[in-house]
Amino acid sequence: MIIVLKPDVTEKEINHIIDKLKEYGLKPHVSRGEERVIIGAIGDERQLASQPLSIFPGVEKVMPILSPYKLVSREFKKTDSIVEVAKGVKIGGKKVHVMAGPCAVEKQDLLVHIAQAVKEAGATILRGGAFKPRTSPYSFQGLEEKGLEFLVEAKKKTGLPIVTEVVDPRDVALVAEHADILQIGARNMQNFRLLTEVGAYDKPVLLKRGLSATIKEFLLSAEYVMARGNHKVILCERGIRTFETATRNTLDLSAVPVIKGMSHLPIIVDPSHATGRWELVVPLARAAVAAGADGIMVEVHQNPEEALCDGEESIKPNKFKTMMSEIRKIADAIGREV
Ligand code: PEP
Ligand code: MN
Repeated sequence: MIIVLKPDVTEKEINHIIDKLKEYGLKPHVSRGEERVIIGAIGDERQLASQPLSIFPGVEKVMPILSPYKLVSREFKKTDSIVEVAKGVKIGGKKVHVMAGPCAVEKQDLLVHIAQAVKEAGATILRGGAFKPRTSPYSFQGLEEKGLEFLVEAKKKTGLPIVTEVVDPRDVALVAEHADILQIGARNMQNFRLLTEVGAYDKPVLLKRGLSATIKEFLLSAEYVMARGNHKVILCERGIRTFETATRNTLDLSAVPVIKGMSHLPIIVDPSHATGRWELVVPLARAAVAAGADGIMVEVHQNPEEALCDGEESIKPNKFKTMMSEIRKIADAIGREV
């Protein structure tokens, strides 16, 4: 950390800052220029997070060197992390994994049909919401425990591991019993109690980016999970809120290479929630693979008109099959596979 002092700083103020740095185990280096005094602090400055030096008398500005997060950062781990979600299903390696299924789990036979269709087309993970965090309290809230049972049945029939959302810290144990991946939805990205709770489990976590979260906030949320001990975190870019109204959200594709530079964690893209329009899902899935995403999450439904949730952004199995053959070629062109 570099601390630039005000031109009129006094010796007493300098010593006060030095004492504070030493108290936190940092080594101060004072550099006295003609006009300014600058203090360089060597050590892990994150320990000073609760002591904002910028408000100390005599301080003009503080420039952090380290990122505010630690475990998620590339500085902490140089190589890409690979999260194994089931036997042979590893996210973050050469293979780009596709998670597909309905927005919400509805009926048992419907779910099995979708699962079989997406598996046949090459999906490796089944998605489906049993606990639905809906914007309106009057919208379908999900089948809850029954939905989890339907997912397990579909897994038995197809062998596909399942990813499903948990919205309440009190439900984590139940969802973890059934799911292979615990999804934290965009609306809960900063539900720190929930993040801490899933952090206590030895189960992969799919953390979706919050509706208006910066990349820094997103990574700090991942840090919450990892700080509790669970390092199996997969990030998911699912669009952020902007002034644009033509799409439900704006897909921030640059987040993929930006995050890859900042963190070792795998990152996938959800073009369904990012756009809210089924006709945009395939082009953005193609773009996501080209941008280097480690996976794609797509909503698929046989009959989107009848879907209880997000029918407008769900693609039919046929379209999904076309998407798979297209992204396969793109993955191949960049040395990856689908
Ligand atoms: C979902 O994937 O079911 C979902 C609700 O997505 P998001 O949290 O990104 O809105
Ligand atoms: Mn949805």
